[in-house]
Amino acid sequence: MTSTAPNENIKDNLKDQISCKLVSEIIRERIQAKGARFHANDNISDFIQPGELETLEREVATRVRDLLKTLLIDVDNDHNTQETAERVSRMYLNEVFKGRYHPQPKVTNFPNDRNLDEIYTLGPITVRSACSHHFVPILGDCWIGIKPGEKVIGISKFARVADWVFSRPHIQEEAVMILADEIERLCEPKGLAILVKAQHYCMKWRGVKEPETSMINSIVRGDFRHDASLKQEFFELVKQQSNFGKNY
Ligand SMILES: [Zn+2]
Repeated sequence: MTSTAPNENIKDNLKDQISCKLVSEIIRERIQAKGARFHANDNISDFIQPGELETLEREVATRVRDLLKTLLIDVDNDHNTQETAERVSRMYLNEVFKGRYHPQPKVTNFPNDRNLDEIYTLGPITVRSACSHHFVPILGDCWIGIKPGEKVIGISKFARVADWVFSRPHIQEEAVMILADEIERLCEPKGLAILVKAQHYCMKWRGVKEPETSMINSIVRGDFRHDASLKQEFFELVKQQSNFGKNY
């Protein structure tokens, strides 16, 4: 009589009953069949069917447990790490990387009935991400400048969309670009400006260990790009809203 190794049992439990495939394999094949990209900062929620995220959570937990074991941590007897794998999996899929696995929060746009055309800025909006290179936090502030077009959205929605976009593994430059694309899609402004100032834990905690260094980058589109005085006004307004003394 042969007995199955414990690892094989876990793998079998994670496999889809009918196709005998891991849910990550099923989702990956679905993405690849559409020729879609699934880089770390892409949202893949369109390819995840109801119920699959819960199965994926169990699969990821198994892999995190393997990682801890490979790091020679006694997860069976160390009470502090016994459920770390489940916590990390939940945290990745539903919190810190929710912008990959969950759809965009619902944002309703309204017609710009009064033809508002004065610029406004919002900020600081706290943004939290993780660097794609080391999976350690990026924490920062974001300012958004809008010159309204035909449509407007509620101001709290900018913070919700920023949170959703940043809750993925990123590099800061691409995060700002993706946020700009999403805002343009939602309200088609005549002008859009975004500035992000963030601290990267891969510089603070490891590597060069520079605790105070931050990175600032910005993007200007539409009227903010073509009109130098408008661009200047955006940066002046951001300066007034700044909280540059803040430390993470
Ligand atoms: Zn890094």
